[in-house]
Amino acid sequence: MAEITKEELMTSAPKKKEPDKAPKLTGKIVKPKIVRGAAGHNKPYTAKPELMEKLGFPGQLVDNWQEAAIRKMGELLEKYKSLQVYMDICVRCGACTDKCQYFLSTKDPNNMPVGRAELFRKVYRRYFTREGKILGKIAGAVDFDLELLAEWYSYFHQCSQCRRCSVFCPYGIDTAEISMAAREIMDSIGLGEKYVVEVLGKVHDIGNNLGMNPKALENALEFVEEEIEEETGIPVKLPLDVEDAEVLLVTPSADFFASPHMESLVGYAKVFHQAGINWTFSTKASEAGNFGMFIGNYGQMKKVASRINDAIHELRPKRLVVGECGHAWRVAYQFWNTLIGPFDTLNPKYPRPQHIVEFTLDLINRGALVIDKSANDEFTVTFHDSCNVARATRMGDKPGGQFELPRELIKAVANNYVEMDAETIKAKTFCCGGGGGLLTDEIMEVRINGAMPRMQALHNVMETHGVNFMALICAICKAQFTAVFPKYGVPREVAGGIHQLVGRALVLGAKE
Ligand code: SF4
Ligand code: SF4
Repeated sequence: MAEITKEELMTSAPKKKEPDKAPKLTGKIVKPKIVRGAAGHNKPYTAKPELMEKLGFPGQLVDNWQEAAIRKMGELLEKYKSLQVYMDICVRCGACTDKCQYFLSTKDPNNMPVGRAELFRKVYRRYFTREGKILGKIAGAVDFDLELLAEWYSYFHQCSQCRRCSVFCPYGIDTAEISMAAREIMDSIGLGEKYVVEVLGKVHDIGNNLGMNPKALENALEFVEEEIEEETGIPVKLPLDVEDAEVLLVTPSADFFASPHMESLVGYAKVFHQAGINWTFSTKASEAGNFGMFIGNYGQMKKVASRINDAIHELRPKRLVVGECGHAWRVAYQFWNTLIGPFDTLNPKYPRPQHIVEFTLDLINRGALVIDKSANDEFTVTFHDSCNVARATRMGDKPGGQFELPRELIKAVANNYVEMDAETIKAKTFCCGGGGGLLTDEIMEVRINGAMPRMQALHNVMETHGVNFMALICAICKAQFTAVFPKYGVPREVAGGIHQLVGRALVLGAKE
């Protein structure tokens, strides 16, 4: 990477080599020949000083940034033993090299998981190992200078923290954790990503990622009620801030506003209505997403999650259900108990948050809903496992429930289902390309490239089986695919939520 100044690092816009173009759809995912530096020009906008300061970070790159970064790295190595282990145990076996969607598409070796981790590891060796301190470059140790920091900013924002690499690493090294630590270090020295920092600011100020104020939220719910009544003639309610309800539904705010997310919102509402369950949304907990995880910052994660806890105490629901969002479910499943638990005011029969998929499937299995699968006969459906759900969570009470339950639910509401290539689903699923804080337009090239492996597998089943609907359970996947599909010549409507299918097939007004 060419020499760079501090000002350039903080202010320069991403330099585009050429307009965003999608790789050709051939149906094959091939290991590419390496092109060094091919993706080094990609980087997201940096966050404005006033927004960084609001989150408690320095406004801009601090003068003693190198010293501060190394100190922070030392703190994280001490705090997260796994990070220390990941630094020491990589044997450079190469098993992970062709497993990341961003390397497969950009050919840049810094986008190989081991290459990305090496950007961190060479600083670690230089300042935290004896050999590195004495032998320097011979021991693979490198001074942390501005050029290397620029590479960190670029390549640690070309990792969606999807954990696919960890599935193939014989030692289970999780590059997602290394990326989170790198971002936490960068934030701590004043180098933050605009998109994520802005979203966190909106959640703290207003309560959700979209910055919808309570009135706008109320209006959005009323609008959906009107739409459902117009379509079905049945007054289905989307209640807000109801006390002592059976269920508090916490869903990504994109469900209140974006498309195709709102179609799933309709599906949730129809499920609750038809099952006769007293349920509510909360103004305070109007966001299931938690971008604190993307920057590896426990304090931010806790602050975002605390809004859910406030809503539980304010409204006293008996059950907590989480809507369609991949990273939100990961935070709910893995972290909520430590961040805001224990949930001792919930019904002891449901002492943990449940995923809306397991909730709806349970109702169908118990005969509480009447389903007409033929309503979805115009679709041949496939399912994209969201990376966070697949590799960082479970659903239901059996191992593998996160793979099986969504498929069972789709098959319960649609007649035509086709699986994509086995190497691209379940634990081996590819990220949509926009996860982990990458869902921002200035790095559209990264997003289009990152989607490539999933697009190849989708293209295959579209060609061979006529698939025309890819069911999703993640707000980021929905936003990402609807943005990149046109670049690949695939209609936007091919992407939709599982509860979009549920909503279509559910027979309102019918009784079992
Ligand atoms: S976590 Fe995902 S995006 Fe990051 S290096 Fe591993 S495979 Fe690539
Ligand atoms: S698979 Fe694991 S041990 Fe092998 S190179 Fe990759 S990170 Fe290192």
